[in-house]
Amino acid sequence: MRASRFAAAYGASAAIAESGRFGGTCVNVGCIPKKLFSYAAHFREDFEIAKGFGWTVGEPVFDWKTLLANKDREILRLNGVYERVLALAGVEILRGRATVLGPHEVSINGKTVKARHILVATGSWPVIPAIPGRELAITSNEAFHLEALPRRALVVGGGYIALEFASILHGLGVKTTLSYRGKRLLRGFDAEIGDRIAEEMKAKGLAIHFGGEPAAIARRADGALEVAYSDGSRQETDLVLFATGRRPNTAGLGLETAGVQLGPDGAVVVDRLSTSSVESIHAIGDVTNRLNLTPVATAEAMWLARTLFRGEPTPADHENVPTAVFANPNIATVGLSEEKARERYGAIDLYKSSFRALKLTLTDKHERTFLKLVVDRASQRVVGAHMIGPDAGEVIQGIAIAVKLGATKAQFDATIGIHPTAAEEFVTMREKAL
Ligand code: NDP
Repeated sequence: MRASRFAAAYGASAAIAESGRFGGTCVNVGCIPKKLFSYAAHFREDFEIAKGFGWTVGEPVFDWKTLLANKDREILRLNGVYERVLALAGVEILRGRATVLGPHEVSINGKTVKARHILVATGSWPVIPAIPGRELAITSNEAFHLEALPRRALVVGGGYIALEFASILHGLGVKTTLSYRGKRLLRGFDAEIGDRIAEEMKAKGLAIHFGGEPAAIARRADGALEVAYSDGSRQETDLVLFATGRRPNTAGLGLETAGVQLGPDGAVVVDRLSTSSVESIHAIGDVTNRLNLTPVATAEAMWLARTLFRGEPTPADHENVPTAVFANPNIATVGLSEEKARERYGAIDLYKSSFRALKLTLTDKHERTFLKLVVDRASQRVVGAHMIGPDAGEVIQGIAIAVKLGATKAQFDATIGIHPTAAEEFVTMREKAL
């Protein structure tokens, strides 16, 4: 959508082929409904916190069907908005599934459409490992449309989707277990973030099973699911949700016949200008499996439109991209982890702060907010900022500007804090952590 709109704005004649609803994964079965669910799940704690501030709250009752209906209505509204925005931008909408026939030809509903440039932005699809009983499990796609909430759930994986859905289900009152094959959640994130988020989630009552992955799932006579783990243990549950990664959507698109090189994971291989091995065929977003985040995909779209239709070759810039995991508590990060910074710079300085948020001091809740800065010792530039705590994404978005601009620790320190906030700690951490 973003690429066609910008192409049209730069004077190109643009058309878009879509077989489903507009908005892609993010709007339909990703970011947007996920965050709505995440808000819903947070209310459980909010009601408890309210008591410490003098509020009497009756026994809160949650109705899944209401949330689902309201969410569906909002997504439908967004689908309509997106379609109208395209029409207003002068983008032609071709309804149907497209297949690439050659460097300049696409087939849609048996009709051949010719174009100077073809852009593949087909996203990705969740993968369930090939284990016996996999058909009894669901992915995030189905989790957005469950008819009823289960009593118990097992969420498999240790990445974004696993942590987010485990937190959502747990917050909505489902007895939830998170199962991760490794020893530390969120591989690739700062190790301390991975360790601390597991502790915080466990402290909220979520069970975490480390070191094993489901090897088989079977349905018992009473309707419950029985999961056998690779480490020999077993678990009974009512829903198994796999969040074990996603695969680029390139099957059956005709790309190979057009001569487009695909990677071993099925991703379209592209150069820094998002052009494939065929000069007139380009690809952006999850289908390229570079950095799979919505704002990165939309940025890639704008860079490509600028390259192709404004005569300004603009390479993709994947440095210092901030990101958040909407688990409970939230996690957000920008720049390098401690481990990556050590690899790249050798000597680094660390600054950390861990505290109980002011809002919790009138309650019996002991969740810790955690902030960490990673500084390149030689240049004194802040090369990484990490946070676990309420609204971490909102905080890190601002910090990301400073990190992107190459701010030094002294410049962070010269900034006055906003008191009392959690974010002010980012500009008041004076003592190096050992
Ligand atoms: P991720 O790649 O983030 O995580 C996949 C997880 O599944 C990893 O913990 C991985 O373990 C584990 N895994 C992989 N294969 C198996 C297997 N065969 N058996 C058991 N475990 C397995 O994928 P997600 O599905 O969570 O999300 C896909 C991508 O979508 C994310 O990487 C992110 O880019 C994007 N996303 C972003 C969000 C946001 O911005 N808030 C939200 C949701 C998704 P290991 O680490 O050991 O490989």
